[in-house]
Amino acid sequence: MILILVDALRRDHVGTYGYHQPTTPFIDELGARGVVFEDALSQAPQTLNSTASLFTSRHFPLLLWGVEHDPIPGVADDRREQWARTPRLAAANLTVAEVLSAAGYQTVALFNNPHQHATSGFSQGFDSARLLDRDAGQAYARVDSLTTAFLDWHSGRDPERAYFAYLHLMEPHNPYRPPAEYQALFPPGSGRHLYANGPPPPGFTGSDLETMTALYDAEIRFLDDGLRRLVGELELRTDLEKTLIIITADHGDELLDHGGLGHGKTVELELLRIPMIMTGGPVGPHAGTRVEALVRNIDLAPTIVEMAGLDEPGDFQGRSLVPLIDGAEPAIEPPEISYAWIAELRSLTSAEWHCMRDLANGRLTLYHRSEDPRGTLDVAGERPEIAELCLAALDRLEAEGEEARRTAEALKTVETDGAITPENAAVLEQLKALGYVEE
Ligand SMILES: [Zn+2]
Repeated sequence: MILILVDALRRDHVGTYGYHQPTTPFIDELGARGVVFEDALSQAPQTLNSTASLFTSRHFPLLLWGVEHDPIPGVADDRREQWARTPRLAAANLTVAEVLSAAGYQTVALFNNPHQHATSGFSQGFDSARLLDRDAGQAYARVDSLTTAFLDWHSGRDPERAYFAYLHLMEPHNPYRPPAEYQALFPPGSGRHLYANGPPPPGFTGSDLETMTALYDAEIRFLDDGLRRLVGELELRTDLEKTLIIITADHGDELLDHGGLGHGKTVELELLRIPMIMTGGPVGPHAGTRVEALVRNIDLAPTIVEMAGLDEPGDFQGRSLVPLIDGAEPAIEPPEISYAWIAELRSLTSAEWHCMRDLANGRLTLYHRSEDPRGTLDVAGERPEIAELCLAALDRLEAEGEEARRTAEALKTVETDGAITPENAAVLEQLKALGYVEE
C-alpha cells in the first residue's frame, strides 16, 4: 500500500476533475484505472492539522502545543524556531501506521515538509521515517529525490511481507519554481512570482496572477511526470496490480479565488477540496468508478485498515470508503458532512452547503454549493434555518475540540516531563482510566 500525499494540490487543477490544462496526464491515467472520488475534502487548509487528522482519522488529533523540539535535521537554522513552535502529534494518538505495523506490515514514511520532522510525533508507527534533506538550491527535496529514496527502501524491504508507505511530495507547494522545460510547457508570461499566504502584496496585477497560475500548473506537471517515473520503476520490479496506490492532497492553494494567495488563512472550498484517487489492489475490480458522495481525508485510515483485512480500531472517527467503492452504499443517510478548522476559523460542508464561521468576530458565511460552486454569494441571511443548523453543529464540534485540547494539555505532562497542574491532573486521571496513559 502506498499513500501519496501531494502538498497543496487543488482538485480543480487536476485533469480528471475537468481542468483544461495538461497538468496531470499520469494521475488521470491512474484515475481511469481506478476509483476517483468526486467530492473529497480535507480537515484543514494547512499541512500540520490536515495530515494529523489524516494519520489519526480524528477531527481533533491530540496536539501538544508549546513543547520543545530537538534540532530539526533538514531544516535551515533560520526556520528552526518557526517549526519548533508547531505542535507535536501526541504519542497517545493511534495512527494508521501503528495499526498496520502492529499487524505485521513493514512501514515507511518519507516526509518532505518540515512540519513532520524527527520529533514531531508523525513518525509513530513507521519502522523507518525521515524528513528528506532539501535538494541543493531548492526549498525542498524534489519528486525525483523522493523517488530515489523510496526505491532504495523498496530494494531493502522484505518482499515476503506487506508494506505501507507514506510519501509526502512537496510539488506544487510554493515557491513555484518549475524547471525551465516545464515553464516552456506552461508559458508564465511577463508577470511576477509574488507568493503570499493571505492578501497579495501591493501592486499585484492580473498578469502576476497569470504567471503564478502558469508556474503552479508547471509544478503540477513536473510532479505528474515524476510520479510516472516512480510508478513505472515499481512496475518493473513488482506486480503493481496487487499494490493499492492512493493519491490525495492535504489542501489546495488559493489563486485569488477569495482575494488571497497561498493557504492556511481561510476555510474556503478551493483550499479544502482535494483530489482523491485509488488504484490497484482491492480497488482493481472497480476501475472506472467515480464516487459522487462527499468523502473526507479522515475516511482514508479506516479504508486502508479495512482493505488490509484488519478490524477497525475504535479510535477512528472516519468511516471506511469500501462500501462506496463496492457500490453497496448508493445513498448515505444522513448526508455525510466534513468539518475543517484552522486558528479561529471553522467550516462545515455537506454535499449541498458550505458554511464558515469566524470565531474572532462571530461572522457566519453560507454558500449553496450546487448553485454557487465558487462560493461567491453568502446566503446565510436568506436561509436562516440552514445557518442555524450549521451553527448548532459547529457548537457541538467546538465542545469536542475543547475537550481534545484539555486532554492534550494534560498529556503534555506525561509526554514531555512538564509540570502537572491541578487543572490537568483530573484529566490525567481520566486518561489513565481510559488506558491512554500508563501508570
Ligand atoms: Zn500542505
